[in-house]
Amino acid sequence: MTQSLAKNIHPITEHGANVLYQHGTLALLVPGLLEGTTTIGELLKHGDTGIGTGEGLDGELIILNGVAYKVGQSGVAEQVPDDFTMPFANSHRAAFQYQCERNDIGLEELNDRIVEANGRANTFFSVKVHGTFSFMKTRAVIKQQAPYPTLLEVADRQAIFLRHDVTGTMLGYFSPVMFHGAAVAGFHEHFLSDDHTFGGHVLDAVLGHGEIYSQVFDTLVTHLPVDDPGYRNHDFSQDNIAEAITSAEGDTRTD
Ligand SMILES: [Zn+2]
Repeated sequence: MTQSLAKNIHPITEHGANVLYQHGTLALLVPGLLEGTTTIGELLKHGDTGIGTGEGLDGELIILNGVAYKVGQSGVAEQVPDDFTMPFANSHRAAFQYQCERNDIGLEELNDRIVEANGRANTFFSVKVHGTFSFMKTRAVIKQQAPYPTLLEVADRQAIFLRHDVTGTMLGYFSPVMFHGAAVAGFHEHFLSDDHTFGGHVLDAVLGHGEIYSQVFDTLVTHLPVDDPGYRNHDFSQDNIAEAITSAEGDTRTD
């Protein structure tokens, strides 16, 4: 009796693991609202897994197993402390489901197959790919100082990194097209090598061999920086939010 009852308890919902937590929106990066308005410590209260960017677009963050790493303009990953601040970040409690293995597949096809396999184009979900990438191209934005530039101006101030035959974890989030602006419609993926020496925001990749996991969310919690004067007083009606995000964050961007 106890055993059959235990089977019926859904461990994911019980621990709130189907909630995606987001601090800020990508839309506030467009006009350059890059103040750090939350901390890694706060983000970790809402999950042990995530991605984000630091104040002034200081590096590309990835959180795996409750530990946060930042890849800055040097391309080298470093652990960041709990008081590190960010204008935008996502986290969730990991409860990934194994999906499949894949060999020799490019990033675009891989992402398309993941959406197809899930039948989830209108759903937020996380994807985790662990394996050896025969090719991995990442970027990290160079840290900006206040007064901050717009997202489009910053898009040209980035370092690009290439690695071959690198083993690690690619972690990302898929956002439905009707949420474009609040997030990037489609995938937003970051990478960290197993030896923690390399990573960044994924621009392009070829997976040589790896395992694919996904986790579907039924709830999006968006936390806004309501006490930040820059955010409170900004007039977003003059910003071409959706176009600017497409231009700056598009996964086909190569420069
Ligand atoms: Zn990114």
